[in-house]
Amino acid sequence: MALEKYRQKRDFTQSPEPAGHRPQTSPAGRTPRFFCVQKHLASHLHYDLRLEHSGVLLSWAVPKGPSLDPATKRLAMHVEDHPIEYGTFEGVIPSGYGAGIVMLWDQGTWTPEVDDVDAALKKGDLKFTLDGYKLKGSWVLVRTKGARWSSGGADRSWLLIKHRDDWAGDVDIAEFAPLSVKSEGDFADILSADNPDIWRSNRPAQAGEAGAMFDKIIARALEMRSGTDRSRHSDRSGRSTKTATQRKRVSAKPKVARKTR
Ligand code: MN
Repeated sequence: MALEKYRQKRDFTQSPEPAGHRPQTSPAGRTPRFFCVQKHLASHLHYDLRLEHSGVLLSWAVPKGPSLDPATKRLAMHVEDHPIEYGTFEGVIPSGYGAGIVMLWDQGTWTPEVDDVDAALKKGDLKFTLDGYKLKGSWVLVRTKGARWSSGGADRSWLLIKHRDDWAGDVDIAEFAPLSVKSEGDFADILSADNPDIWRSNRPAQAGEAGAMFDKIIARALEMRSGTDRSRHSDRSGRSTKTATQRKRVSAKPKVARKTR
């Protein structure tokens, strides 16, 4: 496993992301090691699941985020390994690959439920236990047997599935616990912490297509904040009182953003 692909995609003079030049080692066998989920507001909102293994973070981009419902299989695209230092990164990627806002959405340890992680990955069936703030219990990543000849890298498609245990349930964890475990903020907080001038109406405009996309990301961060505030309101009066319309409104947001991209 190596970080060449990770480094090729990024310009570290422009991005605050770690280059990961420090060699790392990881525990072997059924020993707990680091995991995180980063909520990433880029051209699409997605959740990046990262599992420490052999000195890097194995990474999957999960468009809809993890589901605690064992009946709900979530698509997880296997992406390039990331440096271990990336695992606590939270901030703004102003331009280039992955431009947008990264939130540390969950963090903790994962423990393989197999002796040989490499063999499990090769087989396309990795069972593991998570012990994070938000995600706990037994999970599996299964490679889909999709058509490998189709474009879009079907061999990179996996499914993330919660196993039935005490930590499974029907609460929408992404909606119920939307904030950072590092700063406790939302995307708009992370954006303004990184760049206090961002809300000034006369802030210098970023040029070209990247600038236009970033303006959309800022708008989306604000839009999501108003969505979160609505659910905070209904939390105060008891979650069970939240109406179907409110739930629908929150879950409909990603579609709106996609249309305006
Ligand atoms: Mn990402």
